[in-house]
Parts: sequence; structure tokens; C-alpha cells
Amino acid sequence: MRLYNTMTEKKEELAPRDGSTFRMFICGPTVQDNVHLGHAKTYIAFDVLARWLLKCGNKVQFLVNITDIDDKIFDRARKESVPFMALADRFLADFLSDVEALNIVTISKVERVSNYVEGAINLVQDLLRKEVAYVNDGNTYFDISKADHFGKLSHLSSYELKLKQIDAAPGKRNSVDFLLWRKVPEGSEGTWKSPFGVGRPGWHIEDTAIALSQFGTSYDLHGGATELIFPHHEAELAQDETLSGEIPFVSHWMHTGLLLKDGEKMSKSLGNVVKIQDALRDYSADEIRYYFLARHYRDSFDLDLKVLSKAKSEVDPLLKAAERVHKDTHHGNELRTLVDKETFRQFAQAMDDDLNTPKALQILFRVADEINEKSSNTRDRPADELSPLFWHMVESLGFRLF
Ligand SMILES: [Zn+2]
Repeated sequence: MRLYNTMTEKKEELAPRDGSTFRMFICGPTVQDNVHLGHAKTYIAFDVLARWLLKCGNKVQFLVNITDIDDKIFDRARKESVPFMALADRFLADFLSDVEALNIVTISKVERVSNYVEGAINLVQDLLRKEVAYVNDGNTYFDISKADHFGKLSHLSSYELKLKQIDAAPGKRNSVDFLLWRKVPEGSEGTWKSPFGVGRPGWHIEDTAIALSQFGTSYDLHGGATELIFPHHEAELAQDETLSGEIPFVSHWMHTGLLLKDGEKMSKSLGNVVKIQDALRDYSADEIRYYFLARHYRDSFDLDLKVLSKAKSEVDPLLKAAERVHKDTHHGNELRTLVDKETFRQFAQAMDDDLNTPKALQILFRVADEINEKSSNTRDRPADELSPLFWHMVESLGFRLF
């Protein structure tokens, strides 16, 4: 299949680097609160990617990291007078039940960054030894002038980079040098001892520690929502490639468009979120999934509750067709025979073309309509070949239907 790569700004062939297992690492949430529909949009897109890769015969390792060390977690824990880890545990459990409720079942591993602090400390030491990092006023920074073309993922020129500020502090070498290790007063909650002082790892080095430990010196796809391209993924990339010496460290970068609310990004800090748990009281998982898949994953768009409400009647033909064809239809080994069928070929073509789910949905609905029409005319079971065709498409897109 071909998938748009943020790095090259082109659709490129997607294949596992080691020839057998496709390794993807998707940035998970900071567990400071319940996740919202913006997260649902992101993880449904990656779930569909993983489902399709599996359907096409690949093995898939789908890794999600959980940020459980963050000021927002410490602040909230203090307000609620609970240990910060207890707060993180609670929202991690909620996250896992929310993704399950949305039928996002392809995630194979969840790694908490708090389990990788020792690894992060070792990496910061390596970067200091390589002289690509420096200590300034007790904090340790990455010197972006030492990276291989810092800005290459976000396509920012050196002039544009100079206008940006990351982790602003006096005495930094470049305005976008980012924190690898932040000093924190001794005795604060959530601090670790390191050779460069008591503190906490920076956000970006945590992901690098997980990636290097889980995947070694390279892997296939890294992703998240577009807001993560800069500075988060740009910074990760600089660290990854400097530490591993492998360029490219990640073959493919996939980013999903944002879910907006009244033109602004849906985010906890803007206070405009619709939590997944709340949405699931009014809409089914299939309706929410349909709403997102009816648009391309790279689109950013406003949450339109009127459109989401219509999803109920729009998903109906799928439910009717599902009632008419048995879910236990034997279809496990029949994919190869279906590849020759024109309808499935069109479906596969849409999925292979940068996950064109709006088009794939049209084809699925055509099959559902055909099933509904045939069974209402004859009261017989619909044609044998329609049933496995239907279920392959339903599973690829991740509808539950029962
Ligand atoms: Zn991340």
C-alpha cells in the first residue's frame, strides 16, 4: 500500500523493514484526564491502518506510549491530594477501556514512560558524551545545530526555526534547543537522581528511550496528530538519529488531521473537549467510527454534532446487512479468492491509496445495499460471495455491528 509520508510529503510504499513484522509507534495520551473525541479520531485512523496491514498478511506490532510524568499530572494530583501515580493509573485504566469501547483492538503494547527514566538518563549521558547536548543552569539541552538537518520533518527553514522558541531560557545556544533533562527542586514529587542533577526527563527523550528499547535502532512508522510534528517529533527524530546513527531511523511518518471545535483545536487546555465516555452515552462506537472514517484521516475539521447525529441512520444499512449475513460466515481463508472480485479489488485499491476510507466506505455500503436488496426480494440468504466480502470490509474498517 501507499501512505503519505510527512517527511517526504509524498505517498510512499509501506512495507515492514525487516520483511515480516510492521513496527509502528504511536504517541499516546498524557494521563492527566479522560481522553476526548480528538484522541478517538487519531487512534481510529491508526487502528484502521493496523487492521489493513494485518488483513494484507503482515504481522504488526502497534506500540503506544503513555506519558505519566508531566506537570499537568503533578498539579492535578496535588489539587486532589492523591499520589501522582494513582492519578495516572486511574486515567490510564480509563484510556484503555475507552479505546476498547471504540473497538480499537489492534494496539499490541502500551508502555509507560515512568518505566523508562533510567533508559532516558543513559541516553542523555550518551548525548552529553557525543557533545550534542549541554548543561545550562542545571538543565540539559539538545544542541539542534549538531543534528542532521533539524527541521527536516516539519519542513521549517533555519530562518523559520530562529523565530521559534522551545523551552525558553537565557543562555541557550539556539532558540529551539529543547530540554533533555529538567532540574527540579529536591524533595519534589516525581523526581529522579541523575549524574546531571535531580530532575525529570524531557518529553521527547522519553519516547526515544521507549523506541530504542522496544524496536532497536530503527522501525517502520511513527505517528500521532499533526500537532506533534513540531517540536515533539522533530526533536525525537534528532535524538533518535544522533543516538542510533541510523538515518532514516523511522521509515514513515504518519500524522492525522486535528479535530476542531469552533475552529479551535479540541484540547483540555482550551476547555472545549467532548470526552469519549460522554460521547459514547449518545452515540455508538460504530457511529463515532463512521463519522471519522467518512473523512480522510489527514483532514482537520470541526466536530459537527448535527452530522454525528445523522450517523445513526447512515450506519443502519450496515446493521441490517449484518443481521442478514451470519457473522460466523467462514471467511478466514477466502481473502485470496476475493482479491479477484472487482468489488473487493476496488475496496483494496481505496485502502491502499493512503487509506482512502471515504471511498472504501462507499464500496462497503454498496455491498450492504446489495445484501439488503437481495434478501428482501427472495427471503433467501444473500449470494454466498457477498457475505465474506462484507465481513472482510467490516473488519478492515473496524465496525463491530453486534
Ligand atoms: Zn510522543
